[in-house]
Amino acid sequence: MKQTMQKIADNLSDFFSVVFRTAAKQASAQNKLTRHIVALNKKTSSKEIINEVAVCLKDILGYRLFAFVVKKESNVDVWLDPRMYKKSLEDIILEDFNISRKNLNYLNQKFEPGELQEEFSLKNLVYYELNEENCYSRLYMLPKSSITPFHDEVVSLILQGCATALSKQIQMENLKDAAVIDPLTGCYNRREFDNQINRHIATASRHGKRLSLFMFDLDYFKKINDTHGHLGGDQVLKKISFLVKNNMRTGDVLARYGGEEFIAILPETDKNKAMELADRLRAKIAAMRIPHNGTTIRVTASFGVSELTPNAGMDKFIQDADTMLYKAKVNGRNRVMPGLIKICSPREADKKAKTLLYNSLSTI
Ligand code: GH3
Ligand code: MG
Ligand code: MG
Repeated sequence: MKQTMQKIADNLSDFFSVVFRTAAKQASAQNKLTRHIVALNKKTSSKEIINEVAVCLKDILGYRLFAFVVKKESNVDVWLDPRMYKKSLEDIILEDFNISRKNLNYLNQKFEPGELQEEFSLKNLVYYELNEENCYSRLYMLPKSSITPFHDEVVSLILQGCATALSKQIQMENLKDAAVIDPLTGCYNRREFDNQINRHIATASRHGKRLSLFMFDLDYFKKINDTHGHLGGDQVLKKISFLVKNNMRTGDVLARYGGEEFIAILPETDKNKAMELADRLRAKIAAMRIPHNGTTIRVTASFGVSELTPNAGMDKFIQDADTMLYKAKVNGRNRVMPGLIKICSPREADKKAKTLLYNSLSTI
C-alpha cells in the first residue's frame, strides 16, 4: 500500500515537471492533485471514494464525471451523476457489462427526473478503465474540450489513486463479510446473530419497543439430500434463504442458525405480526419449485415464533421460539406455532375472517 502511494507520488512529480514550465504552476497543480489523492485514501466507502474522484476531475480538468461502475461478481455498483439523463447511460452500462437491469446496484439514489438535466451527446462520452487484481471498474466522463495527452495522463494518475483506494476498500469489505456472513446462503452467521440479538434486545428494552423472533427448519431435509444429492440440498438452502430475505423488511435480520435451520430478528414487531409474516413465508416456501439437474425440488418449512417479554433475557426469547418450532414439527410440519386461528362472527361466517388471534395452546 505504502509502495503504491509512493509510486503515485513519484509519477506525479515526474509528470508535472514535464507539463508545466514554471515552477509555481507546477507546484500548484501538483499540490492540488496530491491533496485529492491523499483524500481518496482516507475515504472509508466506495461512495465517498467516487465522490472524491468526481470533485478531483472537475477541479483539475473541468471534466464532468458521468458514471462510475465497479464490477462485483454478477452485479455492478453504479454511481450516476444525478443531473444527467439516467436512462441513456444506464443502457450503455447494461450493454458494456453484459448484465440485466436487476444486477445494477446504485450507490447514489437521488435522481430528480426532468430537473437540471443537461443536454449532452452520447458520442462525446469517453471511458477509462481500472483493473486491479480484485477490482474492475470504468469511469464514464464528458471532457470539456478535446482530450490532450496531458488530460489522459492526469486521468490515469487519478485512476491509480482511485484503484488503490477502492481495492483497499473492497478487501476490507470482503474481510468483514467473511467474518459475519454464511458463504452458502449469504445470511448472517450464528456468531453475528448472537451480536445482533443482544443489540436489538438492549434497544427494544431501552425504548419500550416490541421485538419478535422466528425460527424455521426445513422439513425432511435429509430426504432431499438423499434424493437429490448434497448439491441439490445446497441449492434448496440458497433459494429458500434468498426468498425469505427478499420478503422481509430492510431492518429485519436473517441468520443461518445451523444446517437447515434459520432464525430472524424482527424489530418493532409484535407476536401477531411476526406470526402473520412467518405464515406468509411458510406458504411461499411450500409453493416454490426449485429447478435442479432437470427435475424440480419442493420443500416445506416449520416455524416457531416468540416475542420478547419484559425482564426475560435472550435465552428465554430464543428458547420460546425453539419450543414452538418443536411443536410445529410434532404437529405435522409445514406450519407456524403458535398458530394463527381465524375467528368469525356467526353473521360473517362465510365472509373473510377479520380477526387473527394466536393460539398459544399446543395440541401436544
Ligand atoms: P425434520 O423435518 O425433522 O427437520 O427432518 P430433517 O430431515 O430436516 O432433519 P435432520 O436433522 O434429520 O436432517 C437435517 C439434514 O440437513 C442432515 C444434514 O446432512 C443436512 N444438512 C445440514 N447442513 C447442510 C448443508 O449445508 N447442505 C446440505 N446439502 N445439507 C445439509
Ligand atoms: Mg429439518
Ligand atoms: Mg434441523
